[in-house]
Amino acid sequence: MADERVDEWDEPVREARARAWDDLVAAACRTVTDGLVVGTSGNVSVRVGDTVLVTPTGVPYDRLTPDDAVGVDLDGRQVLGSLRPTSELPMHLAIYRTTDAGAVVHTHAVHATAVSTLATELPLIHYMTAALGGTVRVAPYATYGTEKLAENMLRALDNRTACLLQNHGTIAHGRTLAEAYDRTAQLEWMCRVWLTASAVPGHEPTLLTPEQVEEVRERLRGYGQPG
Ligand code: 13P
Ligand code: ZN
Repeated sequence: MADERVDEWDEPVREARARAWDDLVAAACRTVTDGLVVGTSGNVSVRVGDTVLVTPTGVPYDRLTPDDAVGVDLDGRQVLGSLRPTSELPMHLAIYRTTDAGAVVHTHAVHATAVSTLATELPLIHYMTAALGGTVRVAPYATYGTEKLAENMLRALDNRTACLLQNHGTIAHGRTLAEAYDRTAQLEWMCRVWLTASAVPGHEPTLLTPEQVEEVRERLRGYGQPG
């Protein structure tokens, strides 16, 4: 379905959308090259005004061109493109409706998915937990693409920017695509650390206390370069 609503007034919006689509495709391709997904697993979205650009369902990311842009409104109605949107639209839209997120990344990263089958939350193995808002929860299993999965995810995300999806993978959001992607990579890395430390025979990893993580949450506000 071509976007019939564009007119002279929409030029800056169209440009912003085209740039956002390019960034989205680059991030989706990177989930494959970084080993966070295999094939067409996972999905990525970016919000541009009231439109949410999303990866299409079941299409290899390296085949996507500027003409393949897919957009929906916050009610899930398709407003751009002809390819069918990701099957995980309910999760992406649930996040945009309830947070100020600008981007969402969903993956099937190996270590994160493994942890999602072992625990109901990621043990406090590292202070970077604080960068995700606190203890990372595991959303109980529900079939992919369902409203039930989106509901379970929203509960697990309460006051967090990332969670695990039981026997499925990760989901993270951020103000920007770079932020959502970085949170995904940090989560996968922490899951890998916990699995690695837990696998040493005869030893149990030490864990941080919630207070130690909270202290880092405060401190991270001043992390990095000024401005
Ligand atoms: P889509 O190809 O529909 O985005 O599905 C991939 C996926 O990860 C479903 O959970
Ligand atoms: Zn998935």
